Amino acid sequence: MADNGICTEEQINAVLTRLAEIRGRIEAACRAAGRSPESVTLMAVTKTVDPVLINTAADAGVTVLGENRVQEFLSKREFYRPQAEVQFIGHLQTNKVKQIIDKVTMIQSVDSLHLAEAVSRAAEAKGIVMPVLLEVNIGGEASKSGVSPDALPALLRAVQTLPGIRPDGLMTIPPPASDEAEQNAVFARMKQLYDRMAQEAPLHVLSMGMSGDYEAAVRNGATLVRIGSALFGPRVYPQAAV
Ligand SMILES: *Cc1c(COP(=O)(O)O)cnc(C)c1O
Repeated sequence: MADNGICTEEQINAVLTRLAEIRGRIEAACRAAGRSPESVTLMAVTKTVDPVLINTAADAGVTVLGENRVQEFLSKREFYRPQAEVQFIGHLQTNKVKQIIDKVTMIQSVDSLHLAEAVSRAAEAKGIVMPVLLEVNIGGEASKSGVSPDALPALLRAVQTLPGIRPDGLMTIPPPASDEAEQNAVFARMKQLYDRMAQEAPLHVLSMGMSGDYEAAVRNGATLVRIGSALFGPRVYPQAAV
């Protein structure tokens, strides 16, 4: 992880330029879909990114940060702006829940009852109720985490009975799409699923869309897009194993 705090003026300006571009594109996608731009939250995804650049985005009005890795988050969070709201979006092991439960405002990646129960217990122990999203494996890919669309209704019902956790919506990482028609098809399917589930529970967050497909996601009803490389540039992973 680059945490040496050495960022050039050029890198900082590039983040501001990209942020303006992304905001413009989100606005245009909202307009095309007859939605208000305020209905979409832009999350900055921080993995491998230097806190100086993360704070650049925060100071420019990005209020929500997305974290993938527990250790990286814990080592960087002290450098973050205090007003930044952090949500967890990565695969979460049950034995790490306690390390983040009082440091994040949402966990977007709950994909099993086992994990939901661990989150609920940890939240109860802190006297809080943790808002969560249920992660859906919309493409049915063996390599991806997420509950299958078929198993989602039962998971949602079970999660609704847990005292320390509150399901606020759904999250997905779709399979790579070769064109916009494919992107649209998978996001439209996700929106249908979301609308159906929203009849069972008071859901209000649909987290879908990343650097390569956020405009299609917004046109299809995303309320939160998770943007990493389009905002911060290509990720550079450290040589040494973390
Ligand atoms: C890394 C990551 C993103 C952002 O990916 P980009 O393509 O760089 O925008 C979004 N969501 C999750 C869950 C991620 O792990």
